[in-house]
Amino acid sequence: MEKKNVALRKCSRGHEYEKSKELPVCPLCWIGYYHRKAGSDFPEDLAAPALRALLNAKLIKLADLSKVTEKEVAELHGMGPKALGELKKVMKKAKVSFKKK
Ligand SMILES: [Zn+2]
Repeated sequence: MEKKNVALRKCSRGHEYEKSKELPVCPLCWIGYYHRKAGSDFPEDLAAPALRALLNAKLIKLADLSKVTEKEVAELHGMGPKALGELKKVMKKAKVSFKKK
């Protein structure tokens, strides 16, 4: 394991996480909290920055992704290729597709 100069934090529920600018709060607790609060149906195992990017862009549900193009989603701050791939997998299952250009 590479040694990195980051602050390891423990949240009130005992999850350890690396505090950074991208992740100021515990990602595990954050995901659960925002999922319930927003009524989102995105996969719970989606990376926290990716989920946050979607919610920030007012994309709350899988169906909302039909209103935007794949390129728009890919360019959201926090969205990575891995998260996008996961998203596309669940979209396919839910028969949701990105807006065509
Ligand atoms: Zn936590």
